[in-house]
Order: sequence, then structure tokens, then C-alpha cells
Amino acid sequence: MGRKEELEELIAAFGRRVHGEHPNPERVGCPGRNAMIRLAKEPGVFDADSLLDHILKCAACLDELRDLRRQIKPSR
Ligand SMILES: [Zn+2]
Repeated sequence: MGRKEELEELIAAFGRRVHGEHPNPERVGCPGRNAMIRLAKEPGVFDADSLLDHILKCAACLDELRDLRRQIKPSR
């Protein structure tokens, strides 16, 4: 399983739970849209761990990442 599929699984598995537990409407500690775009485009080429760590505690970023992944085709 590649990093891309891994990310997909993660988003699907945590989506509902993160929304329930960490809605984060005020976007506290969010890395920003540019970081989400980077992660959506190339999840494997830079250190995504700290971003993923945040996303699992922030429904706002999770949604943003999910939307971006629909719009952006990852380069391969
Ligand atoms: Zn966030």
C-alpha cells in the first residue's frame, strides 16, 4: 500500500471521529491551506507526519485536505 492509499484510508477512517471530537471551528494551530495543498499533491515527498498529526485533531483541516484531494491529481 502506497502513501497515497494510506492517506486515503486515514481520511476515511478518522473523518467521522475527528468531526465528533475535534471540530476546531476556530482553526487553532492550523498549518494553513498551502500546507494542505502540498500534502494533497505529494504526500510522499516531504515529512507529512506533523501535518497528519494535526489533521487527526482538526476536522477543519481534514475537510480541506479531502476537498483538495478531489481537485488535485497527485503527480507521479
Ligand atoms: Zn487544522
